[in-house]
Order: sequence, then structure tokens, then C-alpha cells
Amino acid sequence: RTVYLNGEYLPETEAKVSIFDRGFLMADGVYEVTSVLGGKLIDFEGHAKRLERSLNELDMKKPAAFDDLLEIHRELVRVNEIEDGLIYLQITRGSPGDRDFVFPDPETTEPTLVLFTQNKPGLADNPAAKKGMKIISIEDVRWGRRDIKTVQLLYPSMGKMMAKKAGADDAWLVEDGHVTEGTSNNAYIVKNGKIITRALSNDILHGITRAAVLRCAKEAQMEVEERNFTIAEAQEADEAFVTSASAFVMPVVEIDGAQLGDGVPGPVANRLREIYLEESLKKAI
Ligand code: PMP
Repeated sequence: RTVYLNGEYLPETEAKVSIFDRGFLMADGVYEVTSVLGGKLIDFEGHAKRLERSLNELDMKKPAAFDDLLEIHRELVRVNEIEDGLIYLQITRGSPGDRDFVFPDPETTEPTLVLFTQNKPGLADNPAAKKGMKIISIEDVRWGRRDIKTVQLLYPSMGKMMAKKAGADDAWLVEDGHVTEGTSNNAYIVKNGKIITRALSNDILHGITRAAVLRCAKEAQMEVEERNFTIAEAQEADEAFVTSASAFVMPVVEIDGAQLGDGVPGPVANRLREIYLEESLKKAI
């Protein structure tokens, strides 16, 4: 695989980052994951805008302009011959050459910019979408700025392990009795045809897929309500699903052992997945 590191395209084994990099020592970095379908980028602009916002919120320097980032994404898709897959981008505050809690001077410490690709043939035909996911709920003990897409992913990673251990596929995080989001996706329930999902705030990541899916839902005259919901309400829902750039719309069929409806992906989730993929492919660049 060819990867990108600070201005260079390199074989992955030759791309090296300092042990003093603040991403490595302090999780002082942000990231984006953009999916590739048919060799084209899905919602690149949305991801680039959110990246810019994450950088601004953390007072981090932007290492490359929008057009350069687009070019790097496209070049990696080309050289790695990605038909379907993912592009991972990470920016850290760089390597000041020592460990210090104080941010390094941005005049002398350049951010680290890394991109690599993941080949996922048939990404949009994921058989999991036909089966639906089993979810467990766990307490949300993450920090208070979940709207910033940082590389601080230890708790989401632990959540996935807890789900795996419980024989489930993923976990939903619960704070003050309400679902915030999934470990790496936004969470939704459907009741009497209405799509319910938590409103945007600092409590959740502002999913790029969430924005697109809600747009699709409204265009298709589906009713959307942005509000908190509990696990008990979710267990009584007709359907549930999650959204993310890599899973698109993924149905949920079980929550903490309670089967939803008939225990198979519901019509709203299935339809949204179809519309979302169709619309995104049309706009892919
Ligand atoms: N919430 C969290 C915590 C996530 O990690 C992700 C995926 N990175 C999402 C939501 C979904 O965001 P997106 O649709 O932009 O991938």
C-alpha cells in the first residue's frame, strides 16, 4: 500500500512518525474517514468541512488546503486501485521533540498529516445490512466535546469489545438515561413511521452520514424528530438503525436482548439505506 505522510507518497513500511508526536503521546489529533464507492469519494466536502471545524475547535493549524486534500485522496485511490473502500486521514499537533502538556509553538512545530486507504470490496453490499445488528447499551463515560472528531478512541474501542464479549455487534452509549450515539455511529429509532434521533450538541459527533440521511428522509416525506430517547423506548420501537461513513445506514434488530419488531431489518431503515446510497453515488466525486 502507498500512504501519504507530510507531503510524500511512501510505501506504508517507510512512513515513520516521531515518538514525540502528540498524537501518539496525548491523542492530540483529529481524523476523518471517507468512503470510496466505484472509485469515487462519498461526501468529501462534508468530511473536509468537519475536519476544518475540528481543527479550529482545537486551535490546530490546517496543514493543507481543501483542494490539496482532495488531490491526495484521489491520488491514493488511484495508486492503490481502490474501487470500494475507505480513506483514513489524521492530523496531529505534530512532534515538538519532547513531551509537554503545553501546546508547542505552531510557528516551529508543523502538524503531522497522514492518510492511508483500506480496500473493502463490495462495501455497499455488506451482508450485515441484511441481517441487522445486535446492540448492547453501556454508560457513556467519554469527555464533553464529542462534537470534535479526535483520535481519543479508547472508550469506543472498549465498548466494541464489551459488545463482542456479550455476543452483540456494537454498543450504544447512554448518558443521564438517554442514548447519545453508538461507539462509532449515530443512533436512531423508528416509531409509527417517525425517525427519532438525538439533536446535535457537544454530546455527539455531528455525523456527515447523519446529515445526509436526514436530508434524504425529509426529501422522501418521512417524518423526523430530533430529540433524546431512552433504551426502554428504543426496545419498544418498531425499528432502529445507525449511520456512519463506513456502514452507511445499518439496521439494528436487537437492543440489550430485546428483539425489535420481527427481528429483521425494518422497511424504514432498508429504504433509507437504499436512498442514501443512491443519492451519495450521484454526488460522489
Ligand atoms: N459518532 C461517532 C462517535 C463516530 O465515531 C462516528 C464515525 N466516525 C459517527 C458518529 C458517524 O459519523 P460519520 O457519519 O461522519 O461517519
